[in-house]
Amino acid sequence: MSRMKQNSEKFYNGMSKLKIHHFKSLSSTQDKAKEYTKKGLSNLVVVSEVQTKSRGRLNRKWVSSKGGLWISILVKPKNIEKLQYLTFAAAVSVQKSIRKIAKIDAKIKWPNDVHYKGKKIGGILTEGIFGKENHVIVGIGLNVNQTKFPSEIKNLATSLKIIAKKSFDMKKLEKNIVKDFFNIFNSCYNNGKFDKILALWKDHCDTLDKDVEATTRKGKISGFVSGVDNDCNLLLKLKTGEIMKIAEGDIKVR
Ligand code: ADP
Repeated sequence: MSRMKQNSEKFYNGMSKLKIHHFKSLSSTQDKAKEYTKKGLSNLVVVSEVQTKSRGRLNRKWVSSKGGLWISILVKPKNIEKLQYLTFAAAVSVQKSIRKIAKIDAKIKWPNDVHYKGKKIGGILTEGIFGKENHVIVGIGLNVNQTKFPSEIKNLATSLKIIAKKSFDMKKLEKNIVKDFFNIFNSCYNNGKFDKILALWKDHCDTLDKDVEATTRKGKISGFVSGVDNDCNLLLKLKTGEIMKIAEGDIKVR
């Protein structure tokens, strides 16, 4: 595993200087960020051109070849009870940056996917590290300039380049996503304005008010998405009229 460090740079995030550490290859940017927490560091970003062992939710493999943007943001939030909102904040930052820089109208699928016409362009993974000090690592994966994917995800993944038929400036996207994330983190999350994050997220989410099939640990269930509650659970209205809360699962719009 190569851990060759490329460079690091700082930019102002509105509160303090933020350090961005760039690498050519890492097992995963999340793992590297965890190493930094052990050194007592926080308020930093890890970016790698390639990840050799990266994961999605439920330990599923996340394909991280060259051409994608693989970022982990390490923060020490004031409140750790509402971490789901950091996933939402990251999804909004990704969606807004894609729209601004690539002019592509991607949407957010509950809870953590960014997609374009049903094909996944990006995903978010938020991990909390709790101890004497609480850290949170928000992992962001975005398919930018890849033109091919391995057969196992070929039919469900796409990239900005495949959609727009041109390449994009990865640095520009990276900076924009990080800047937008910290804007929401500082002005909303750390000020307890979770309703504001939810409103932003709802503006860009296309899972709401749809008939869906949810696959959860308990099996598959169909219903109508009537909303999202204050803990970011999906509210599914079943045929019986009952409202079911879904905290974790995969959603397919029918
Ligand atoms: P989801 O949130 O969509 O359930 P996860 O966060 O668990 O997904 O991410 C892992 C899944 O995403 C994998 O099982 C695979 O289907 C898909 N996947 C893996 N790598 C990529 C990628 N680079 N782009 C799009 N989809 C991917």
